[in-house]
Amino acid sequence: MITKIDNADVNNTHERAITAGPSIDALLREKGIVPTRQRIEIAQVLLEKHQHLSADQLQARLAKGAGFVPSRATVYNTLRLFADHGLIREVVVDPQRVFFDSNIGPHHHYFDVEHSELYDIPADSLQVTGLPPLPPGLVCEDIEVIVRIRRH
Ligand SMILES: [Zn+2]
Repeated sequence: MITKIDNADVNNTHERAITAGPSIDALLREKGIVPTRQRIEIAQVLLEKHQHLSADQLQARLAKGAGFVPSRATVYNTLRLFADHGLIREVVVDPQRVFFDSNIGPHHHYFDVEHSELYDIPADSLQVTGLPPLPPGLVCEDIEVIVRIRRH
């Protein structure tokens, strides 16, 4: 069962009011992130629902909002900060296609190479078998699968 995740809907800004400032503020503090206005704005857009956004997509959504348009580098650095603190998850499809995932629960991804979109694969619906022995002294911390898909 695959859940379609909205990646590129830049028209849907009315939902932003649903995630009120104080709760985002508390969430950032809980993760050890100082809640500046800019960080709160970025977190509100990304965390409004389960979605995968690139820094460019997120910047475009901010631009359609209340006229708050930080540079792409600022957006990217803020997203990296969020990922480093476990607020969101970074999904690196390849060096040119990095997405930030508001779903931090364990799961895998389908990546539509034609439309550059990610879809969640529930963790329990995919199993990796036949993993070769790990180097001595190491344990498996996580397995993250990206299945690249396209129309045939
Ligand atoms: Zn995901």
